[in-house]
Amino acid sequence: MELSEDELIAAIRTLLSGDQPGVVIGIGDDAAVVEAGTGQPVLTTDMLIEGIHFELDSISARDLGAKAIAVNVSDVAAMAASPRYALVSIGLPADVQAAWVVELYAGMRQACDEYALALLGGDTNRSGRVVLSVTVVGEVAPGHAVTRAGAQPGDAIVVTGSLGAAAGGLALSRLPPTRASRLLSEPWARDLLHALSRPVARVGEGQTLAQAGATAMMDLSDGLAKDLSRLCAESGVGARVELVKVPVAEPLRLGSPALGVDPLELAIGGGEDYELLATLDVTDLERARTELNERFGVRLTDVGFIVEDEGLVAVDADGRTSPLEPRGWDHFADGS
Ligand SMILES: [Mg+2]
Repeated sequence: MELSEDELIAAIRTLLSGDQPGVVIGIGDDAAVVEAGTGQPVLTTDMLIEGIHFELDSISARDLGAKAIAVNVSDVAAMAASPRYALVSIGLPADVQAAWVVELYAGMRQACDEYALALLGGDTNRSGRVVLSVTVVGEVAPGHAVTRAGAQPGDAIVVTGSLGAAAGGLALSRLPPTRASRLLSEPWARDLLHALSRPVARVGEGQTLAQAGATAMMDLSDGLAKDLSRLCAESGVGARVELVKVPVAEPLRLGSPALGVDPLELAIGGGEDYELLATLDVTDLERARTELNERFGVRLTDVGFIVEDEGLVAVDADGRTSPLEPRGWDHFADGS
């Protein structure tokens, strides 16, 4: 590193300074002190590890910092809560440039500003590869958190936005460099990479879905099939998914021939979309759809419904059914 440890810390402190709502004692002391809110605290933590969740040559430091915050905020959003504070612990190899670290923090600060949460500090250590561990504390009105456990037979299954773009970005980033660089002039290719490197957490959308009567909710980090199977397991129910209704991301649809992928397969099995998956009584569906569209310009798509019998069933355009395997992007089985 061209900066000393102390100089780097000073640079990071400058980056993280400024107005931080609710913070009594911020970064730089032994611990942070915050104002207690009126809601129930909501806590989540998530790790991003080089070689497992990202490669240094396929994401910029700024995007990585922003993404580390956004994926944690997404978990808070999935509880219908608001993010408030973040703590960040970082492991850095000795050969990482100080400029890269400053960019990483700049990305985290940018995402924190975007989601109105205060970055309170954390810890930095040497490690063999880059490791980011982010903890986010949020807040929810007492008793109003939406869990994975409330889905009822007959409920509609809904997702926000569209699916599969991040998985398309991953497929693109794994192409041989000469092939990938030829595709990068295509707008769909840039959209796919952007979806992978800059996911958006659906904070307001989560609260809106809760107000509209969501019976269960979670964020889509590991793909629709896998995450829906988790939601169903927690609720003790099953699901029927109508494949023609799955909102495949448009840039993925456009790019799939060049990428040699099945867009529907990525929309169902690909991870890291960070859209919300929820269940609602069918009588609440239209109101939820209208409010999400009016408030956020975000599409809400019903992709099927909850059934009593456990297990996931896919229904194709001709009405044929097949088991929907809960495969998806498995952080443990993937091994990459
Ligand atoms: Mg989650």
